[in-house]
Amino acid sequence: MEKKSHYRVIILGSGPAGLTAAIYAARGNLEPLVIEGSQPGGQLTITTDVENYPGFPKGVMGPELMEEFKKQAERFGTKTVFGEVTAVHLKKRPFEVVVGKESYTCDALILATGATAKLMGLESEKKLMGYGVSACATCDGFFFKDKEVIVIGGGDTAMEEALFLTKFATKVSVVHRRNELRASKIMQERARKNPKIAFVWDSVVEEVYGDPKGGGVKGVRLKNVKTGATQDFQCDGVFVAIGHEPNTKLFAGQLEMDGNGYLITGKGTATNIPGVFACGDVQDHIYRQAVTAAGTGCMAAIDAERFLESQEA
Ligand code: NDP
Repeated sequence: MEKKSHYRVIILGSGPAGLTAAIYAARGNLEPLVIEGSQPGGQLTITTDVENYPGFPKGVMGPELMEEFKKQAERFGTKTVFGEVTAVHLKKRPFEVVVGKESYTCDALILATGATAKLMGLESEKKLMGYGVSACATCDGFFFKDKEVIVIGGGDTAMEEALFLTKFATKVSVVHRRNELRASKIMQERARKNPKIAFVWDSVVEEVYGDPKGGGVKGVRLKNVKTGATQDFQCDGVFVAIGHEPNTKLFAGQLEMDGNGYLITGKGTATNIPGVFACGDVQDHIYRQAVTAAGTGCMAAIDAERFLESQEA
């Protein structure tokens, strides 16, 4: 028989946004349920050192930081279940969240399902993720002081990441699969004018060389998509900047999204359905930082608490 459990607040996602929302909701005596999702701890669990999270002057490992977030949420009565949400029903009250064969209901729902950096899909890219391969220059750029790196992609993110990386690296090569950038003119100009940035056109990465235990990335094999020619290219870091995808497929047809699929929040963290709130990268394609995600997670919990109070009044 189908098991049903009711919670005042359910939080989808267990990255910095979801777990901060949980800490605040739990301390507000709302006994929230966090459904962890397919990547418990979120994107930080695929980074190594996090040096820009305030309060950790010596830095902290991404997975360890998320473990601390989780412990803090649980200390105040947060329940967590491991699992991936398969459906949400937001047009009825209470809201219903389905996780496989389980079904949960809630009066307020906080969505912190995050975004996923698109990757090239190479085995070697996966193996070296966090060991020279990164999908976030703001997070990892600092580790490439006086080194040579490549950035993959031709959009605004790639230009932004390349420009940011010039603060540390001696040389940044942008590898793009066409000979024309997708990025806005202004970003293109900035990148083209920067003496540290070079472009490798019509090329894709076929393999990332290196050993996670032996100093990480050593270089890549590039293939020219027009001529088919391949070449080995030496570099110490590979930044994949081919876009992000917000994890919002579940909400299609129920919640308002922008053209790229990010949830639209109006006042504070409110979505178009009263009682449903969104925080973190699922609604933010601009800042995408752990600290900003945590900040909006706090906002979502406060917004949810006020919403519940208003329902009881
Ligand atoms: P985009 O989708 O705009 O660009 C992705 C880039 O990656 C494209 O050049 C694409 O190539 C390339 N690409 C995609 N898949 C692959 C693949 N498998 N292998 C190799 N290359 C690939 O994503 P962005 O993250 O750059 O930008 C997302 C949105 O955010 C945009 O609207 C952008 O304008 C905005 N943004 C704005 C910023 C700003 O204004 N400062 C900063 C960052 C983002 P191709 O061109 O051939 O399709």
